[in-house]
Amino acid sequence: MVSTNLSSFGSSIGRADLMQAAFNGCAEANPTFRKIFTMAARCNARWLLIFACFALAPSAYAGVSPQSNEVHLQLRWHHQFQFAGYYAALEKGFYKDEGLNVQIHAGDPTHQPVPEVLAGRAQYAEGNSEVLYQRLQGKPLVALAAIFQHSPSVLLTRRSSHIHTLHQLVGKTVMLMNKNEDADFLAMFLSEGIPLSKVNILSSSYDIEDLISGRVDAFNSYSTNEPYYLNKREIPYEVIEPSAYRIDFYSDILFTSESELEKHPKRVEAMRRASLKGWRYAMDNPEEIIDLLINKYHVEKTRDHLRFEAAEMRKLIFPDLIEIGHMNPGRWKHMADSFVKAGLAEPGYSLDDFIYDTTPKPMPDWVAPAFSGILLILLSISSVAVYLIRLNKRIAMTKQSLAQSEERLRLALGTAKQAWFDLDLVTGEVTVSPEYPKILGFDPDTFRSSLEEWQNNVHPDDRAAVLAAFDQCLINGGPVSMSYRRKNGYGEWRWLQSTGQIIKWGDQHQPLRMVGIHADISERKCFERKLEEQAHIDYLTGLANRRYFSELAEAELQRSVRYGRAMSLLILDIDHFKAINDNFGHKVGDEILQRLAAVCRNTLREVDVIGRWGGEEFAILLPETDEDRSVEVAERLRYALSVEKFSPVDEPHLGFTVSIGCVTRTAQYGDLDALFIQADRALYTAKNSGRNKVVVADC
Ligand code: GH3
Ligand code: MG
Ligand code: MG
Repeated sequence: MVSTNLSSFGSSIGRADLMQAAFNGCAEANPTFRKIFTMAARCNARWLLIFACFALAPSAYAGVSPQSNEVHLQLRWHHQFQFAGYYAALEKGFYKDEGLNVQIHAGDPTHQPVPEVLAGRAQYAEGNSEVLYQRLQGKPLVALAAIFQHSPSVLLTRRSSHIHTLHQLVGKTVMLMNKNEDADFLAMFLSEGIPLSKVNILSSSYDIEDLISGRVDAFNSYSTNEPYYLNKREIPYEVIEPSAYRIDFYSDILFTSESELEKHPKRVEAMRRASLKGWRYAMDNPEEIIDLLINKYHVEKTRDHLRFEAAEMRKLIFPDLIEIGHMNPGRWKHMADSFVKAGLAEPGYSLDDFIYDTTPKPMPDWVAPAFSGILLILLSISSVAVYLIRLNKRIAMTKQSLAQSEERLRLALGTAKQAWFDLDLVTGEVTVSPEYPKILGFDPDTFRSSLEEWQNNVHPDDRAAVLAAFDQCLINGGPVSMSYRRKNGYGEWRWLQSTGQIIKWGDQHQPLRMVGIHADISERKCFERKLEEQAHIDYLTGLANRRYFSELAEAELQRSVRYGRAMSLLILDIDHFKAINDNFGHKVGDEILQRLAAVCRNTLREVDVIGRWGGEEFAILLPETDEDRSVEVAERLRYALSVEKFSPVDEPHLGFTVSIGCVTRTAQYGDLDALFIQADRALYTAKNSGRNKVVVADC
């Protein structure tokens, strides 16, 4: 399950091999790591997995190093198949793989497992139920794995003796090892209510001949060993098994001391793991181990005997059914209770810390908070990183769109001959966009914008209006627009229109800045002026047209009335103009009209207003001119025109005359219409009395 998740996870980050390798190595060495790793893989939390691999991997291996790991394993007896798993672990390099340098020591009567371990000469050993017995006596031993699920210890009797139950041994001679080693036998007697005093117990000679010869009635043996000899010699025998008397003990227990577990927990874990791996191998490859025993350990037993041993052991180990080394606390308790029942141990015993805990070690107290802390930090870092990346992206996009928008604005302003300005009202500094010097014909590199520069270059006539608008803007906040002339880079006057607005920060603050747009409106102004002229001026003669003349005359009349000044009006009409047109053509008529206008301008004063009243009829306003003076002027003009000769194409010395009606404002004729009527009448009189003359209105 883990590896499935891991593969899919690994491929997703493209580091499958690396991760898998790291996982394999670390998980093998460290169950805690396996737990974290599995959790990470299940959650698909890649950073957690990476963290687990690279942060924990070194520590996972740190517990066992080859130099400091020479350990001694004490066997219970001579080399034989009984200890096959340990030879396999050594031979196949399982110990080495764990960083362990294991020395295996065969046992004999003077080198027994429990004493060797308690004396510290061996760190590990394989023992029988004596391990529990000694533990119940207070010896600091720890059972690591029960290799034999059932004890091979049996009592053998000769069939000829007809002893085949335990109770038949009362009063008989039984060969046993001491109670330390053969605790299950003793428990068997005692639990069956047979006092040991009723049995003649001899110390074991380890020699089956004592049974065959009849020296003893029952002989302690291993079901995996001695029966082979009896079978070979075809000696009938009976087997008294403790299990038949509910004494069902574990046997061949791999154990260590409490101090070893305390000082080297990793080593204990590694030793157990490698030994069980060896046992698995030995159970799968018994012939290979038999070869090894014969060739390397030079055992005395024959191959056949070893095969017998291997086959019998399978019945006790159950390698195909039970995980090798399995220990059930209930079985241990049953064993302990058997000892108590037999009076070999005190009730109220404790098996705490005796049965090695193969479940993954709970993490030390500091690990969870530390891990949570690291998790939190990593999460925070990733969150901040993600936030920063997004922010950067957003800033980059904003920058890009700002640049685009600025470029658009620049182009638009440039095309429209406009520029923005930003006036700091506190410092008086003015910032203008690069278009400003460009539209005014200054060198953008050297042009320095300032309030002073601006004020100095505004047309004197416009300064007052500009300052008034500026004040207005400060008071009202704007927006305000002002048109004015300012000097450009070539010393010419250009028309600018500046539209600005005040920026305030909150009600209580003073105005801080004025921002707006300068626009060059010179062309528009020029066009407007032309339009205005066209509206006021007669296109043929360049004189004021009738409407404009009326406006000017009205204004002059008002002034004249207000200040009580004299004012006269002349109406002038070309004599027989129709005939000129008819005889010389309309074009010549136009030229005469133009010439007349020129003569009027030359003859009259600057303040006099001349207008084309219609066709070949003209009106002339003479401010501050009384009747006598107006007659003089009219007469002078009439004369000047009558002597004017000009030579249109093919027509030398063509001349013409005019008739003029003249009127002067009086209190009675105070309005313009009345004055025109009077002047018209006078003109009519002039026409009817011979033309080429001046007639004064008869008021
Ligand atoms: P009178 O002495 O009685 O004034 O005779 P007249 O021929 O001048 O008579 P009238 O004033 O009635 O004629 C005006 C003529 O002026 C008619 C018209 O053809 C001509 N006229 C009016 N406007 C123009 C113009 O702009 N150009 C030219 N060439 N002739 C014009
Ligand atoms: Mg006329
Ligand atoms: Mg006329």
